[in-house]
Amino acid sequence: MKSLPKVELHTHLEGAAPPAFIRGLAQEKGMDISGVFAPDGGYAFKDFWHFLKVYEAATSTLTTPEDYHRLTLAVLEESAAHGVIYTESFMSPDFCGGRDLSAWREYLHAIQEAAAQAEAQMGIILRAVVTCVRHFGPEKARETALCAAETAGDFITGFGMGGDEQSGKQGDFAWAFDCAREAGLRLTTHAGEWGGPQSIRDALDDLRVERIGHGVRAIEDDALVDHLAEREIVLEVCPGSNIALGLYPDWQDHPIERLRERGVKVTISTDDPPFFHTTMTREYDRLADAFGWNEDSFRDFNIVAAHAAFCDTETRARVLKKLEQTDD
Ligand SMILES: [Zn+2]
Repeated sequence: MKSLPKVELHTHLEGAAPPAFIRGLAQEKGMDISGVFAPDGGYAFKDFWHFLKVYEAATSTLTTPEDYHRLTLAVLEESAAHGVIYTESFMSPDFCGGRDLSAWREYLHAIQEAAAQAEAQMGIILRAVVTCVRHFGPEKARETALCAAETAGDFITGFGMGGDEQSGKQGDFAWAFDCAREAGLRLTTHAGEWGGPQSIRDALDDLRVERIGHGVRAIEDDALVDHLAEREIVLEVCPGSNIALGLYPDWQDHPIERLRERGVKVTISTDDPPFFHTTMTREYDRLADAFGWNEDSFRDFNIVAAHAAFCDTETRARVLKKLEQTDD
């Protein structure tokens, strides 16, 4: 499964940071973030809310555009090692320059330079989805959306929202999403992970997104499952993340197979892979064990993902061609 070409739509740039990279950066800067790590050297957290705290502490080591250049390279190297040929990463002006547009441009320049380098060296394509942070509130989301709108283009192709799903309502962020849509950005938001089916309906009705981050709790509402299938809403499903955070007890209990059977377009991603002790290879292996999926099944998921990718037609054609090259 490791060498199978993969398309990944849902990762967080900082959340994908290899722990050794963050530890090294903290040492260079003389920062003490030892509470972030478990004895085995990985990230340590108790539950989702503690995860958000640990995530912020780890992210606090990333303070300059140069740090983000190195981070982007480290993350893409890891993804490419697991066969990822196209990846979308959530990145945020909240963490890159505190929502100041000129600072954000500098961070972005560094990230984009690293992405170009990775593409030339490893063939992996990166596109960026700017995200606002839900628990920072709607006012900050407006500033984030303005940064996204100003930098929309070939690289920044989407806008979304992450963070604590139980903070406020999707609709509170409508201004930010409208602003991003007007700038030509394509939209996704985290919903139906910690929030129930209603959070998915709110995302579709109030923010008019075309993809949903997670969305797995749609399974609790039959009418919603039908609605997602009919409207061809793509779910960015991150099974290993859901299981690590205790949303489902085991891989067999994860609803991804039931959603697929009912015609919902599902895709597979890792979310914050080192935090959840996962990789794309591990996701595929566990899903193959749980549901008997084979390489052909995974190719189908990857084709769905390529069609749902927030990229231009020329990039999509290149990605699809690579997926098809594995045909016998
Ligand atoms: Zn996520």
